[in-house]
Amino acid sequence: MASALEGTGVRSLAMAGPAVARDRSSARRANLGMVLRLLRDDGPRTRTRISEDTGLPKATVSNLTAELLDGGLIREGEAERDRGTVGRPGQTVEIDGTGVHGIGAEINVDYVSVLALDLKGQVTAEERVPFDVRAAGPDAVLDTTAKLIARGVERLRRDGGRVVGATLATPGTVDLATGTVTYASNIGWRDVPALARLRERLGATAPELHLENDAKLGALAEYVQASADDVRDLVHVTGQTGVGVGIIAGGQLLRGTGGYAGEVGHLQLVPSDQLCACGRRGCWETTIGRGALLRYAADPGDMVWDPMVDLERRLAELRDRAEAGDARTLDALRRIGDNLAPGIALLVDILNPRLVVLGGHFAYFGAYLLDGVTAQVHERVMAPNAGGCEIVLSRVGLTGTARGAALLALDAVYRDPVRAMNRD
Ligand SMILES: [Zn+2]
Repeated sequence: MASALEGTGVRSLAMAGPAVARDRSSARRANLGMVLRLLRDDGPRTRTRISEDTGLPKATVSNLTAELLDGGLIREGEAERDRGTVGRPGQTVEIDGTGVHGIGAEINVDYVSVLALDLKGQVTAEERVPFDVRAAGPDAVLDTTAKLIARGVERLRRDGGRVVGATLATPGTVDLATGTVTYASNIGWRDVPALARLRERLGATAPELHLENDAKLGALAEYVQASADDVRDLVHVTGQTGVGVGIIAGGQLLRGTGGYAGEVGHLQLVPSDQLCACGRRGCWETTIGRGALLRYAADPGDMVWDPMVDLERRLAELRDRAEAGDARTLDALRRIGDNLAPGIALLVDILNPRLVVLGGHFAYFGAYLLDGVTAQVHERVMAPNAGGCEIVLSRVGLTGTARGAALLALDAVYRDPVRAMNRD
């Protein structure tokens, strides 16, 4: 499989951007980041071309690439003749980073998982543990999360790798500055200082830790895939117990002032008086989330309601019924689509994205949803042809959130490569 970052033309991830150069040392670090991002975004090239592309003097590029080579972040590639030149072909350099890893840890309603990616976007560690997160409470959940992270870090370090950071993904609203999950209704967390408690458990060997909302990280993972087609504006809508929305606008993850942008699941968008986990009634997610899907498709007592049965088995059962033409299941999926469309049309009207990516159970039942939702969105949106927006199904599947979390951890390397090198 091709790596996620290779040749995707990603201009910048959420936080990538030149560091502010205050002195010689920080100017050097900013330049190292610029060269590394160029190689990531536009592929292997000679030092001469790096000099042309960045405007840095050749001698400076020579020093910078030597440092990146020495730090194990790039390697010598194929020989290539520079454009418009005759004579000896130049040696190209390209991203290496096979020994540099970022970790994504995801706390979901139904499981805890950890996934590591190297700088080239290859999966280097992966573990998923089924978990009743709401029932277990934060302490037990963070115990398991810390164990999974520690195990991943230990394995990667034992093989000589460097772990540059880990991002914890949780549902709900999070305070990035303090690392606190402020309110996650579907797992019942309120004001949980998740990062501080993780650090306590991981001790001195902990990698640098960050916290981010799961839907935003899912959007990042989708963006890395979609940016290969030069997509810069994308909305990711994922159906799980709740409904998460992550927005990429102009190639940047939209966070808003406090990091709360995208809380669309608790808007009242279609008529409903169903009680929501947040305590209010009629939230959008009560009409399209997993609870709605089960309620529409079956009566309590049906095996698809049984929390003791693995979620994938229950969803597969519903898909089997749909494939067999079961009227109630098909009607349930039609209702989910009818409730999904007005919210997506609203997002398209406000944000004019190039892509809306449907994830979670929307992707799982995509064959039954996509045409109906697309037709309704085209009908509702003010702009002609839905403003050029295409609605597609997620290609990253269940691991999307953890991948996005690992990508965000790796993004630190592109902002300041020195952090990932052996020295300093
Ligand atoms: Zn709600």
